[in-house]
Amino acid sequence: MAPRYDAIVVGAGFGGMGAGIELDRLGLSNYVILERESDLGGTWHVNHYPGLAVDIASVTYSYSFEPNPYWTRLFAPGAELKKYAAHVADKYGLRRRMRFDTVVDGARWDEEHQHWVVSIEGGETLTGRFLLTATGFLSQPYTPPFPGIDTFEGKIIHTTAWDEDFDLTGRRAAIIGTGATAVQLVPEVAKKAAALTVFQRTPIWVVPKVDAPIPAPVQRLFAKVPVTQKAARLVNTSMLEALMVVGVLHYDQAKPLNKAAALLAKAHLRAQVRDKKTREQLTPHYDFGCKRPTFSNEYFKTFNRPHVRLETNSIDHVTPDGIVTADGHKTEIDTLILATGFNLWDVNFPAIEIIGRDGVNLGKFWRDNRFQAYEGITVPKFPNFLSLNSPYSYSGLSYFTTIEAQMKHMARLLGELFRRGETTFEVTEAANERFLDTVTDKLGSSVFYGGDCASSRSYYFNQHGEAALLRPNSTVSTHRHAVSFPLDDYAYGSVPA
Ligand SMILES: Cc1cc2nc3c(=O)[nH]c(=O)nc-3n(C[C@H](O)[C@H](O)[C@H](O)COP(=O)(O)OP(=O)(O)OC[C@H]3O[C@@H](n4cnc5c(N)ncnc54)[C@H](O)[C@@H]3O)c2cc1C
Repeated sequence: MAPRYDAIVVGAGFGGMGAGIELDRLGLSNYVILERESDLGGTWHVNHYPGLAVDIASVTYSYSFEPNPYWTRLFAPGAELKKYAAHVADKYGLRRRMRFDTVVDGARWDEEHQHWVVSIEGGETLTGRFLLTATGFLSQPYTPPFPGIDTFEGKIIHTTAWDEDFDLTGRRAAIIGTGATAVQLVPEVAKKAAALTVFQRTPIWVVPKVDAPIPAPVQRLFAKVPVTQKAARLVNTSMLEALMVVGVLHYDQAKPLNKAAALLAKAHLRAQVRDKKTREQLTPHYDFGCKRPTFSNEYFKTFNRPHVRLETNSIDHVTPDGIVTADGHKTEIDTLILATGFNLWDVNFPAIEIIGRDGVNLGKFWRDNRFQAYEGITVPKFPNFLSLNSPYSYSGLSYFTTIEAQMKHMARLLGELFRRGETTFEVTEAANERFLDTVTDKLGSSVFYGGDCASSRSYYFNQHGEAALLRPNSTVSTHRHAVSFPLDDYAYGSVPA
């Protein structure tokens, strides 16, 4: 029984779109992209809070094969990313493959027919020879279970569900959370609200953002002479790479660089915040790089404003008209903004139930045996499955370096499969173990293990305290592996006649 599709992709963000482009290049054009939202773009469709922008310069945060000469700023605002996603979908014919408002519940490998059976909310099932999950890392919003939050009588907004019609003017607002999203949002809310209290559990390292509009003549130059934009991308990517590889991954060998980055952030804080106590409260007590670094010229300054207050006591409970902290102090508010981020490790690895060969459940396998995936993309016992949001897959700082390395891995693997005239692949146990041993060993010299990350509460760490998200390689090395991994690391087979 032939499956209905060559491939089923779950998720229509940049990851799923990259997978679609690669499937077309491989001649596998009978595929579908299933997406629970009503439009494409993933992160950049869901998030549209005020101040949203990339934190990686846009020349780098885009597909290398599809540069956009018309970014209006060095760090483009979120809406431009959404527009860029739409442009890519149109240009590469992806939109006609997409099925929106389609929540995927799970997928099961059908041993007899050697294909995947994907279940959709509502009861429908689809079959596909290959399954690719691109469900994102930061795609399952998290709201901490604050006692009493259900009784709150004012407006509650999570940053992933921003209400554009809601006017913050004159409001007494609270923002809970001081992660990367809050760093962008706090200055914007402060511009409108009559009073703003920011509830901080963990301070964040913030370094200055070298941002500016890109003048029209430069945009025209990028469009007419693409090599100029390529050169800008190379310079920017190299700087990010140095920060990541030297400052974070080779912390043991290059502590001074890591310490220099922390000193820069501290100098930035000192230059921007007048009050000594507030400065102390905003200073992290974990090493730079334990958490993804953030960039802002506005965040710290906002705490100088008379109507903005930083609250560092932990939240005890929420009342109908306020938030009470552990010291008994009540902050009266009418608007509660949850910048509480995403749940990665409990619900996102994997984001749907995936049952492989011999009935192995991927989520259970990861939890019982450590989080792992060969080259951050395949797992033994899961034939014809590419998991784009896997442990140890995130390489570098711009997510596009990861996406494009995975596209290359797909091309090499499926190319070999077709060359052999086979229809199934599965990574070998030995190759998987070798990869896990290598990344484990390499991570030993990173800031995650060599530095002090105890108080960072970083999403780089899983529930067991393992830093199992980032791949400890330079992006150059990740891309080299993607085009040269040993082909015998996979077993290939055919659908039985
Ligand atoms: C606010 C914010 C800012 C960011 N800024 C940057 C940045 O500057 N630089 C950077 O490198 N990264 C940034 N990131 C990370 C960003 O998520 C990635 O860069 C990239 O967009 C991820 O693409 P993706 O396709 O893998 O995942 P996503 O964009 O998260 O897309 C996943 C898609 O899968 C869908 N999906 C999930 N589960 C299901 C299901 N069960 N059924 C059907 N569909 C499902 C989701 O609806 C979503 O559309 C940011 C993230 C956030 C949240």
